[in-house]
Amino acid sequence: MKIAIVGAGIVGRLMAWHLCQYHQIHLFDSAKTQERETCSMAAGAMISPYTEISVLGKEWLDKALAALDWWPRILSSLPASVYYQCSGTKVLANKEHQSLLEHFVMNIRHQLPHVRFEPIEPIDQQVGCIFSSEAHLNPRQVMKGIALYLHQYGVHWHEARVEAINPYVITVHNQEKSFDCVIDCRGIGAKQQVEALRGVRGEMILCEAPQIHLTHSIRYLHPIYSCYIVPQGNHQYMIGATQMESESLQSIYAKSVMQLLTGATLVDPRFKDAHIIGTNVGLRPATPLQVPFVLDRPGLKSLNGFFRHGFLLAPAVVAEVAKQLH
Ligand SMILES: Cc1cc2nc3c(=O)[nH]c(=O)nc-3n(C[C@H](O)[C@H](O)[C@H](O)COP(=O)(O)OP(=O)(O)OC[C@H]3O[C@@H](n4cnc5c(N)ncnc54)[C@H](O)[C@@H]3O)c2cc1C
Repeated sequence: MKIAIVGAGIVGRLMAWHLCQYHQIHLFDSAKTQERETCSMAAGAMISPYTEISVLGKEWLDKALAALDWWPRILSSLPASVYYQCSGTKVLANKEHQSLLEHFVMNIRHQLPHVRFEPIEPIDQQVGCIFSSEAHLNPRQVMKGIALYLHQYGVHWHEARVEAINPYVITVHNQEKSFDCVIDCRGIGAKQQVEALRGVRGEMILCEAPQIHLTHSIRYLHPIYSCYIVPQGNHQYMIGATQMESESLQSIYAKSVMQLLTGATLVDPRFKDAHIIGTNVGLRPATPLQVPFVLDRPGLKSLNGFFRHGFLLAPAVVAEVAKQLH
């Protein structure tokens, strides 16, 4: 079959990864291959089925857990190495804010009464616990790695804005192009057609801190300076993330920089000596229920609404849709 995939964020790339061995794939994206404006480039890429369950609801647990099987499989197929660790997530709070930790764990237990986690020894006035089977990866490396894989398999990559999407037909540069199937993975780019879709702004800081050696990701709970810190390999750390009801893609706010960096230095004061190597802003595509959806019509499939969970849920959601096309 000749298939058009519109949108080369993590959802569109994974879709192409699944289908390119069986079909002729045309992947369209208005951004250049490694441009930062796709939401996926801003992600922390935590694969956290348990610590995100209170946002998602337990009906998503199986799909979220499946990511822990899918990612090693996907990464081992890629022609470039990608930083990936399945070393767990530490949830930390200062002793004086222990109630935040208790509340966080209680919310998870409300969904999953038998969830397993271990308390960690209090250090420097911090208390916490670890969910040891969670993982994280470097999203920018994985986006690049999948692009290289797709190139090897002869995927036709078009740097072009798709002006209209219809069953079997897309319009590019004012010209209609026909396919056996069109798959819409435009994230927030589909907003005009999907009434309930909204962008939720997220900001992050990427820094280099050779003096710090974290292998697990950290969620730091604080009444003002909550943040998470995700190792990205090569002594780099992603510090994230704000969550704002705004569709502005303007650069990170000064107040967000202060909030995230204060949080990181409360976790480990050595982050004061880190070098900032970049910042990024992404619009998480969200539905009112904040969970993804798949629309399946003859000649047109749409996958969207991955909100905070593109790296967590796309592997299983995309695999299900791709299976129908094998
Ligand atoms: C700061 C931050 C941290 C995050 N951390 C995590 C995390 O730890 N774990 C996790 O699982 N998720 C995380 N997320 C969420 C995750 O990044 C998103 O769920 C995911 O990126 C959504 O992917 P997508 O492919 O649907 O959209 P996108 O990545 O936005 O891709 C859509 C693509 O479609 C293209 N496009 C749009 N319109 C058109 C058009 N008309 N023609 C052609 N191309 C078009 C765009 O250029 C874009 O490349 C985070 C997000 C942010 C912002």
